[in-house]
Amino acid sequence: MTWATVPNDRFAFTRGTPVTYASSAHGRRTRCATCGSPLTFHTTTRPDDVDITVGTFDHPERCLPETHIWVSSRIAWLDMGADLPAHEEGSPA
Ligand SMILES: [Zn+2]
Repeated sequence: MTWATVPNDRFAFTRGTPVTYASSAHGRRTRCATCGSPLTFHTTTRPDDVDITVGTFDHPERCLPETHIWVSSRIAWLDMGADLPAHEEGSPA
């Protein structure tokens, strides 16, 4: 999945009210209340940021990739290109 990470104070839902649920001890996610699409991820390990699913943007092509994370769990046939930094797990601190 492709995520865009932005500061909390730079993000707001402009339509609808998502469903929020705890996805782990440190994570909270939202999904669309109508179709169930995953929308955001908040974690207490990065309390000032929110991750947003790029596939739900009106214009996802405007969001350019900067890095690959969690490469260790990618599906084997996926070619992500070799021109960006890649991290076996999450983003380095
Ligand atoms: Zn929806």
